[in-house]
Amino acid sequence: MSKILVIAEHLGGKLNPSTARAVSAAVAVKPEAIDVLVLADSVAALAAEAAKIDGVSRVLTVERAENAHPLAAVLAPQIAQAAAGYSHVFVPSTTFGKDVTPRVAALLGVAQVSDVMSVEGPHSFKRPIYAGNAIVTVEANPAHTVVATIRTASWPAAANGANNAPVEALALDVALPSHTRYVDLQSGKSDRPDLQSASKVVSGGRGVGSKENFDIIFKLADKLGAAVGASRAAVDAGYVPSDLQVGQTGKIIAPELYMAIGISGAIQHLTGIKDAGTIVAINKDGEAPIFEVADFGLVGDLFKIIPELEQTIG
Ligand code: FAD
Repeated sequence: MSKILVIAEHLGGKLNPSTARAVSAAVAVKPEAIDVLVLADSVAALAAEAAKIDGVSRVLTVERAENAHPLAAVLAPQIAQAAAGYSHVFVPSTTFGKDVTPRVAALLGVAQVSDVMSVEGPHSFKRPIYAGNAIVTVEANPAHTVVATIRTASWPAAANGANNAPVEALALDVALPSHTRYVDLQSGKSDRPDLQSASKVVSGGRGVGSKENFDIIFKLADKLGAAVGASRAAVDAGYVPSDLQVGQTGKIIAPELYMAIGISGAIQHLTGIKDAGTIVAINKDGEAPIFEVADFGLVGDLFKIIPELEQTIG
């Protein structure tokens, strides 16, 4: 029988919703137990949150000052040791998971399974390849621990509230590396919803034309209570910072509503919105590939259409 260790992702004392999504993937394996591992400098509040997630058997905690910041070099040896006795280690396929998981796999001497989008069996998983153009089924070696990142956009967050899993402190005996240390975190401050978890996203592309013009995207997003995203061309042109990029080399998102404005719909962009609910496209080129995936398409100049839309929204 399988036993799965899910690594909790958190920042600023709050659990990231990606953790509950990784738990959903773990549930799909139908394991004997799902334990969540919380590594932090102060674990109580995080552990209490994790204990409420449906499907979680136990919450294991490692509280030490070195775990104050998500440094892959520091966390990986602890996760690798905590993984003893588990058949699987699941980590969200976010910036955090993509950073830490390969180190865990390397320390355990196994090949990592990346971006799990569905579970076919305890050692068989589907994942996207070629920018989402093809789906491949991968078989992990049953003799090894499965170390996998979970494509969060493909999994709903496990329900939260009914569970009350026990919390246990885990005693590890790991020498932590000193070659990597935390210096500073610089992140964009925004009152807007977080792009990765927002239910509505308004994205602008090269068609928006300039950094100043991007105000029209921000205003529409604010009116809708949406997060703002962008194509890589818009990011490369300096209209917005790179943390807003959606797509293969940006964020993979699954909002209920996605508005692509002045975005042509290149495959590398579309791979980031494969799991979006309703897609609305505004583009002056009626032949733009974005219309092939859009549920609603408006052909015309964005600078005319957006003000009209705003009037309708009120
Ligand atoms: P364009 O393709 O130039 O499209 C602009 C669109 O705006 C056009 O369709 C045009 O008709 C429309 N338009 C212009 N003016 C107006 C107007 N006034 N009103 C309405 N519509 C207007 N791209 C990503 O987005 N994300 C990624 O993560 C990503 N990763 C990549 C990784 C690799 C390895 C490679 C090779 C490429 C990647 N790209 C990525 C780039 C991708 O191939 C495209 O170049 C990019 O998505 C194009 O951005 P765009 O649609 O904004 O620009």
